[in-house]
Amino acid sequence: MPPPDRPDGGASARTAVVLGAGMAGLAISRVLSDFVDTVILVEPHALPADDRPRGGVPQAHHLHGLNMRGLRTLEELFPGLDEEVQAAGSLRLDPGRDALTCFPTGTAPLMDTDLRARLSSRALLEARIRARVLALDPVELRTGPRATGLVTDPAGRRIRAVTTTEGDIPGDLIVDATGRFSPLPRWLASLGLPAPPTRTVDAGVGYASALFEAPDQSWLGLMHPSVCPNLTRGAYIAKIDHRWMVTLYGTCGDHPPTDPDGFRAFAATLNNPAVTTFLHNARPLSPIHRYRRTENHRTDYHRIRPWPDRLLVAGDAACALNPIYGQGIGVALEQALLLRSLLTRRTDLTGLARDFQRRLPTTTAYAWHMSAFQDAMWERHRNGRTTRLDRVISWYLHGLYRAAVQDPKTMEGFIQVFHRAAPPSRLLHPRVIFRILRNGSA
Ligand SMILES: Cc1cc2nc3c(=O)[nH]c(=O)nc-3n(C[C@H](O)[C@H](O)[C@H](O)COP(=O)(O)OP(=O)(O)OC[C@H]3O[C@@H](n4cnc5c(N)ncnc54)[C@H](O)[C@@H]3O)c2cc1C
Repeated sequence: MPPPDRPDGGASARTAVVLGAGMAGLAISRVLSDFVDTVILVEPHALPADDRPRGGVPQAHHLHGLNMRGLRTLEELFPGLDEEVQAAGSLRLDPGRDALTCFPTGTAPLMDTDLRARLSSRALLEARIRARVLALDPVELRTGPRATGLVTDPAGRRIRAVTTTEGDIPGDLIVDATGRFSPLPRWLASLGLPAPPTRTVDAGVGYASALFEAPDQSWLGLMHPSVCPNLTRGAYIAKIDHRWMVTLYGTCGDHPPTDPDGFRAFAATLNNPAVTTFLHNARPLSPIHRYRRTENHRTDYHRIRPWPDRLLVAGDAACALNPIYGQGIGVALEQALLLRSLLTRRTDLTGLARDFQRRLPTTTAYAWHMSAFQDAMWERHRNGRTTRLDRVISWYLHGLYRAAVQDPKTMEGFIQVFHRAAPPSRLLHPRVIFRILRNGSA
């Protein structure tokens, strides 16, 4: 897309300061580079020139997939990047044809779909996006400084700079993309602003992941989901960047161990022959890494009135999701598209931040509801507060999984909803309901 007119009509140079060179920070920098003169990207950690994992993103040791919607958004922001990542060894797959889905009711039938998804190491995906962004003229990377606060104008209405461990950095726009552990609520409190409303839904999920060398399989990915309330354990296996990554997880605090024997023993309890055989023939290539901060956590910054002008919050800093649903990157990329659409329509940066925050929930709503709906059931189960409705939903889901194993059309609907190619109501289609009722309770 050709750069549109400058927001200020070219009258004066504009600088944006983006905090955090993760997925949201990179995507937002890509968009801003078309609209401002300088984008200063601030990242406390050293960024490798190649695709090794780096500090600041501990999740990089765990499997990262992009669903169909995320992949499309990636291509819209970075045309050709998907092919580039493919050439580097990451795999694009048809989630119906190339991935095994192992429900407690059996393995779902494989089928061709017109959907495409991507499995990749986080490090490779991020490194390729980063290379694109850093090649943009307006983007200037500053590694080392950690953002520590905000500076306002004397009236306290507009953010003018960010304070960092290496001095203040002034900007016409400041973007918080510091991820799940964003310090912004603290910074706002120190400016005398009210605490934003937050919502946390925690299924108590813990991950353990490792890389393996293993013979090629008839599939590229395997998903063994946990199922509320009885099956707390799940697994993902995927071929990424010429190796295999195995991620085991458990909900409600039933977390996989990180010692090799414990890891294999946990996997064996899934009673899934495909997982057991895979691990039997696999040789570990890495230590086992764990990750436990997986709660869905949303901060409703759009409810703070008045919102300080020139301050944007994006990515996990605004809405972090349980990673087992694989939605976070796609949502962060969509927020960059939202910013682009707002910047394309306006000539002034004033008020942009308020408009962005107000519209941000539209980019997170689907993923939030998908994650938080299921995790709220886990949370209630964990706290001994299961409701009658939870029991009905669990019954329905078991019926759905059974139907998906028997009926390719139902499975196709399941895949489409997971990849955001169809609304969740697709799983309430009369045909699906009829099949579930005909099968009786699971
Ligand atoms: C275990 C796990 C697995 C996941 N799997 C998937 C998946 O399969 N698919 C998917 O779509 N999503 C997945 N996610 C979610 C995904 O990783 C995040 O949604 C995504 O990285 C969000 O991007 P972000 O830029 O907001 O945050 P991050 O990518 O985490 O980046 C935040 C950046 O901010 C920097 N930073 C932190 N503090 C400061 C500061 N004070 N000043 C300046 N910079 C700072 C950090 O160093 C980091 O570089 C997973 C997450 C986890 C935890």
